Amino acid sequence: MKKFNLPFIRKMHTMNFNEIFKQLPEKKERQVFNLKIKLPQQAKAAMALIFSTILILSFTYTSNYLKTHENNIYSTNSFTIIEDGKELCKVRNPKLLKKTLSKLENEMRKKYKHEIKIENKFEAVESKAKDREIATEKELYSILKSNINYCILAYAVNINGKKVGVVSTEDEAKKAIEEVKNHFIQNYNKNSIIEIKTIENIKINQVKASNTEIKSKDELVNYIMKGVDEEQKYIVKEGDTYWTIAEHFNMTLDELISANLQSNPDKIQIGDELNLVVPKPFVNIQVKRKVKQKENTPYEIEYNRVSYMFNDEQIIDRKGEYGVSEIESMVTEQNGIQISKEVISEDVITNPISEIVTTGIQDPPPKKGTGYFINPLPGSYISSRFGSRSGGFHLGQDMAKSAGSSISAADGGTVTYAGWSGSYGYMVDIDHGGGFTTRYGHCSEIYVSVGEKVYQGKVIATVGSTGFSTGPHLHFEVRKYGSVVNPSAYIGTQYR
Ligand SMILES: [Zn+2]
Repeated sequence: MKKFNLPFIRKMHTMNFNEIFKQLPEKKERQVFNLKIKLPQQAKAAMALIFSTILILSFTYTSNYLKTHENNIYSTNSFTIIEDGKELCKVRNPKLLKKTLSKLENEMRKKYKHEIKIENKFEAVESKAKDREIATEKELYSILKSNINYCILAYAVNINGKKVGVVSTEDEAKKAIEEVKNHFIQNYNKNSIIEIKTIENIKINQVKASNTEIKSKDELVNYIMKGVDEEQKYIVKEGDTYWTIAEHFNMTLDELISANLQSNPDKIQIGDELNLVVPKPFVNIQVKRKVKQKENTPYEIEYNRVSYMFNDEQIIDRKGEYGVSEIESMVTEQNGIQISKEVISEDVITNPISEIVTTGIQDPPPKKGTGYFINPLPGSYISSRFGSRSGGFHLGQDMAKSAGSSISAADGGTVTYAGWSGSYGYMVDIDHGGGFTTRYGHCSEIYVSVGEKVYQGKVIATVGSTGFSTGPHLHFEVRKYGSVVNPSAYIGTQYR
């Protein structure tokens, strides 16, 4: 469409002739009228000729104008709706544009459940139009709808300048950050908390987003805390501890703890679900809090060194006991793991009691067979000898001494059995090398374990009456390549 800029002509041709006459001063009109009456016939004819000429000229001009300016004839004020330089339609009331746009915006907001921003610029500029050119409100609505470009407005959470997620509203973004912080303080008494801070700089800003990019608040919270979307769970079985689970999955204990802040490591139960994905949170939350609690205080160990014992042997004369103090401290935890503790005050409730231990000063002998057997239970007497016995065969010799007496290894070697063994009761086997082994049965207590290397004379057990036994004694066997030999022939001798 062309724009016309001929205000004068337009004004002329929008007035009819009556209007022109109306605008003539009253006096002059009367004069003309009077003149008309008094004029002779020829003059009248001349006047008529002039009038008709004017009329014809006017008509010619008007029809010419109509041919070239057809659109503007009978046109009245209107507004052309323009979108980026492109004319869309015309309306009479410019307010319709804003009204229709906000109607469209509302509809889309409802449809996508998000804030919408119309991206293209619409304007209403003054123009002229005939009635039939004017778009109805309904037409305007569908014209705008088909021409509209829009984007969804959402809110991004930026951590140290990096966009970690987008949610629908600013409120959701704020709540997500609060939830992340609260996650790390959920198990604490709120009154104890002095400060909660994130190490990182967190900012929320409005962004244009696509539908698929927008997360729910809970998804965002989860993502910020874990740093990953994946999940891997473990169901606690009988005998599991945090330590064994962490070890099994190649995690450190701290990693398992921080993956499971909601559960207490000391109170896991069969069937509990633990997270195995080590969180790499986008934020590090530091919680500083004042804690007042009863704590055990450690005891000291006092050593009493004697010459008749080896320095790897020890006897506890008095067991130590922890003391108890009420300690007030300032504790700082990062992501649930304690990183510092500052004691503010300590009220001693009970003092610790030191442990007293007797130990030796001598270096122990080599932990291997010497080829010589000593008496494993000095001061005992032989209550039953090796060999045939009441229709059976006695595989060793019984050495009687009071219950609880120390049994020593007859020679150095490696413990190959330590535990319950049927009629032997609690039993220890030691391999001395060179095909020789010794066996110690009916023990009440065992001090060694399988695989342990012992030196000659090492106290390995105490006399008891466990298994098939009629009273406290040591059943002592010596075996050569697995076959029993008479122990009395080997004690106090060089056997190899
Ligand atoms: Zn026996």
